[in-house]
Amino acid sequence: MPQPLTLSDLSIHADAPLLIVDVDEVLAHFMTGFERYVRRHGYEMRIDRFALFQNLYRPGETESLDFETGKALFDDFFRDGAGDLDPVEGAADALATLSTKAGVVILTNAPAHALESRTGWLSTHGFDYPMILHSGLKGPTILEMSRRTSGPACFIDDLLPNLESSAEAAPAVKRFQIIADTRLRPLAPTAPDRHGLHEDWTTLGPALEAAVR
Ligand SMILES: [Mg+2]
Repeated sequence: MPQPLTLSDLSIHADAPLLIVDVDEVLAHFMTGFERYVRRHGYEMRIDRFALFQNLYRPGETESLDFETGKALFDDFFRDGAGDLDPVEGAADALATLSTKAGVVILTNAPAHALESRTGWLSTHGFDYPMILHSGLKGPTILEMSRRTSGPACFIDDLLPNLESSAEAAPAVKRFQIIADTRLRPLAPTAPDRHGLHEDWTTLGPALEAAVR
């Protein structure tokens, strides 16, 4: 079974560029995978706000699921469903190219019991990079990582609070936002003047190439 990698275990090249990359809605289509999972368990997802549990319903009901039921589904998903996620188009190829000149670290917020499914999914889909299983806002961790190289560093995530946290803790790290789910994208909080916003990897890949050059 894979072991959790801690920040001190992580080897970062002291003068290479560094890419710090989230998983859900960046490399993996989380919403569509989670939607399949909840459907198999008799619930439905209606994406009408930028939220997770508040988009889950019992069929025919207008009130979304209570938090406890939603959270239980989410936790179970990371136990036995998170291997069934579609990869985001173009991400694996773009990172493979970028990894010839930059270090790549996966920084994902997921429960501790997600370790096996998450590492398994990443290696199955061509994302064989070291992974830190994280919780909470990512800024302080990004600062710790970026301090260990003199090269340029980039952070890619779908969630504005993580990008804002990165900007506050480690302003020198360049920030990029992508929300892979086309239903969620128009509902997502963004700040394109502060964090480069991309719809897909066809523009994100070249933007990262330019940022690590
Ligand atoms: Mg994410």
